[in-house]
Amino acid sequence: MRNVLITGASRGIGAATAKVFAENGDNVFINYCHSEDCARKILDEFKNNGLSARIVKADVSNSEEVNRMFGYITEECKGIDVLVNNAGIAQTKLFTDITNDDWNRMISVNLSSAFYCCKAALPHMIRQHFGRIINISSMWGQTGGSCEVHYSAAKAGIIGLTKALAMEEGLSGITVNCIAPGVIKTDMTSELSEEDFTSLKNETPTGTLGTPVDVAKAVFFLADNSSSFITGQVLGVNGGFVM
Ligand code: NAP
Repeated sequence: MRNVLITGASRGIGAATAKVFAENGDNVFINYCHSEDCARKILDEFKNNGLSARIVKADVSNSEEVNRMFGYITEECKGIDVLVNNAGIAQTKLFTDITNDDWNRMISVNLSSAFYCCKAALPHMIRQHFGRIINISSMWGQTGGSCEVHYSAAKAGIIGLTKALAMEEGLSGITVNCIAPGVIKTDMTSELSEEDFTSLKNETPTGTLGTPVDVAKAVFFLADNSSSFITGQVLGVNGGFVM
């Protein structure tokens, strides 16, 4: 049974990913920050279905909280085999309206969090000569998104982190990949109007929007033991919106 940590797994893509791993027999650590009720609900559902999981609170933008979370994890098991850096926030603002605080928060939640979690997870992965790290970027990290400069910069940073770390860790049996989702219906996109969704669908070759499960299944594929020859890649899960 692999030990899997998914950051930001109380809702949306992270929650769907936790479910896919747990249903496939992995032991899942469900990280949350604010949504304790949602995390507990997921845990109860998993337990009722005989799945193996724990919830663990940490603001992953804070390195001390990340280290405390890993302290708890190493009390519960030897260490993390699969790390999914999913926690994220979004904000739509004109570049000229983005404050220094907006910028710093965006970078710390969406990018520094992955740095902290990778640092904490890697020693165990290196020791056991196996690990899978999957980072959740965004298609805006590939192309840049208007009115989301800070978000796009953080997500582009995730792609750079992924590629560089994949080079360093290849000989250690650890793969590092990232997924760049397109438009996925979650709380994060709930501010978009039905009109917005319709025009986004029309711009998408598949004519559909993505679901959290679409992303979760791609994460699970990259985490598979047999995906050992795939590393440093950016997998678009976007219906062909970005090719
Ligand atoms: P969501 O529904 O808003 O969920 C965000 C998750 O991140 C929640 O579980 C939240 O936990 C957690 N989180 C936020 N700040 C955190 C922090 N400081 N520490 C720990 N957890 C934190 O978003 P989503 O759509 O599932 O997005 C998941 C990931 O996919 C994000 O990285 C996002 O950028 C990326 N993505 C999403 C889309 C999309 O269209 N939805 C597209 C491309 C990429 P709490 O509520 O417990 O704080």
